[in-house]
Amino acid sequence: MHTRTIFILFTITKEVYFCYGHRLINHPGKCRNLHGHSVKASISIEQEHLNHQGMVCDFSDIKDCAEKYIDLYLDHNLLLQKEDPIIPLLEDNRERFLALDEHPTAEVISKMIFQHLKQSGLNVTQVILWETTSANACYRES
Ligand SMILES: [Zn+2]
Repeated sequence: MHTRTIFILFTITKEVYFCYGHRLINHPGKCRNLHGHSVKASISIEQEHLNHQGMVCDFSDIKDCAEKYIDLYLDHNLLLQKEDPIIPLLEDNRERFLALDEHPTAEVISKMIFQHLKQSGLNVTQVILWETTSANACYRES
């Protein structure tokens, strides 16, 4: 006789929107040019048990946590890999940018958001960054 264990898991997803400029310096095609994206990040949080309000957590807690980070580092910023040769020019002109160790792809940006939420104590399971309406990158840890 087999016994089946059922695992119960609740997942909620909150979407946040922001914009950034970037370029991928090693890309062979048009992504090597400076350009921008207006993106959506879909953030999923899960819990086995609901809180006393019957929630995984408040949607506004996800929004506040994500937007605080996004406003500070990503939104309307220029995201560049730290070896990008345009950086000295931006520094000379006191322009805002964020230099990353990794290339500023949708994959890396979704990872950055994920790690911030996780470090903030949210039980984040995945962050999907929609760079266009037909293309997204997902970061999760297991
Ligand atoms: Zn791009």
